Amino acid sequence: METSLPVQTISCTQCGGELHPDQGQIFLTCPYCSSAVYLDKSRVVFHWYLAPTLDEPKARAALARWMAGNQTVKDLDKKARLISITFEYFPVWYFKRRTPQGKEEIILELASATSVSEIRHVRLPAGDLRKYDEGLDSQAHMPTVPLQAAVGWLAQRQISTKEIAEQALVHIPLFTCKYSFQNTGYTALIEAATGQVFANIFPAKAEAPYMMVGGLAAVVFLCLATFPVIGALMGDGEGAMAGFLACSGAGIVAAPLLFALAAWVAAKV
Ligand SMILES: [Zn+2]
Repeated sequence: METSLPVQTISCTQCGGELHPDQGQIFLTCPYCSSAVYLDKSRVVFHWYLAPTLDEPKARAALARWMAGNQTVKDLDKKARLISITFEYFPVWYFKRRTPQGKEEIILELASATSVSEIRHVRLPAGDLRKYDEGLDSQAHMPTVPLQAAVGWLAQRQISTKEIAEQALVHIPLFTCKYSFQNTGYTALIEAATGQVFANIFPAKAEAPYMMVGGLAAVVFLCLATFPVIGALMGDGEGAMAGFLACSGAGIVAAPLLFALAAWVAAKV
């Protein structure tokens, strides 16, 4: 599998033709078969890109939808202030894995540092990959993670290099959105082919208030449930019946109060 190439001759992954890159050139188009390839330190791999379908207004709309959604704090779309939105092609290492059971899966690893490592989970429809084009150079972020390092990450996750059927460099179209909320800066990435939003850290809905309401409800109903027991312990069936009635009555009063409290929390958080 490892075909470490001598420095003098570099061959095209597709046709085996000899490539003669200029000094420092890493993105190449094969003069024989016109494949787009990337020259990594360890080998030559195919170079693809994912074509964007979202322009900036659509990316802004996707961001607003995500901010208005359930994951983030209420009204984030109204309260956050967008600071900047920039476009680039971000590099990822693409691995097609064939498991011993014969299943195929696509694994991505970051080919450059980013604060939003979630981007590794982008969905990559294989049919939409296109041959990288020199025209994209000015918008393409250079890979800084060598292929060998990415293969090393796979090995750490118990994925053998023997299972890797295909590897390539893929540039994915991304809008980087920087915004602030309550004087804190955040970054969200929008993958410009599908509009999927990625963020490692964002103003999330707080869980603590919900857990408090849940805990309170549990305690209230547990207390109510002891009424009939106490009644029964006090001696006769009448006591148990009185306890049961008290329990039901209090429960009927408590339920809407707790429900109202939950609704108030949901509206507030
Ligand atoms: Zn070729």
